[in-house]
Amino acid sequence: MLEQDHSGSEKQKPMVVFAGRSNVGKSSVMRALTGRKLKVGKRPGTTRWEKSVDLGAVLFVDTPGFGHMAGQGKKAIERAKTALVQKLEAWSSRLILAVLIIDISLFRELVERWENKGEIPIDVEFYTFLSEISQHVIVVANKIDKLPSGNRTGEIDYLQGKLPHKGQAPVIVPLSAKRGINILELKREIEKILQTEGVQIPIW
Ligand code: GDP
Repeated sequence: MLEQDHSGSEKQKPMVVFAGRSNVGKSSVMRALTGRKLKVGKRPGTTRWEKSVDLGAVLFVDTPGFGHMAGQGKKAIERAKTALVQKLEAWSSRLILAVLIIDISLFRELVERWENKGEIPIDVEFYTFLSEISQHVIVVANKIDKLPSGNRTGEIDYLQGKLPHKGQAPVIVPLSAKRGINILELKREIEKILQTEGVQIPIW
């Protein structure tokens, strides 16, 4: 089986997990990377629960989009977030890489909205959480095509400034899953990290 529910026979394989708010393009990014068709939705929140793609040496695991989804109340959103956090924590021993996908075209606006309410933006909170449970984190700044080319560097710098880190700067890959911009660069970043963890490459 090429795609399967994660609870199957692949229990001990190292995992690369993809996480992100609903509608950031998570399924599109996974499809651009693996060539496998995972469900892409027109409405926000169409990824219901994790699906995995078995690449032999590693398992790529999709997770449900967090944050607001159409027709969901605040309590349901919180419950979904808690379930996701618990699942990721349970996987942490074999989680070698977490890929956090954000929509760079909306990032500044979202951060300002949360900060104006005195709250930590959910993407930033998730970045911190993933850094704690996964050995490596890559942040994919998706939908870069939606930004005028003159704004791209500035928005990436803004994102970089918002991600808390002690030592090394976070790995950020600007990308467009839709237009195929920087997919190869993301593949290389993923392989570089997997190689440091003893996974045989190429994995694609
Ligand atoms: P998910 O809910 O995070 O899995 O997001 P999807 O992959 O289903 O994509 C949500 C919407 O964003 C779809 O309409 C995609 O066509 C669109 N989308 C995904 N990636 C990009 C991108 O790089 N640029 C643009 N402009 N749209 C994108």
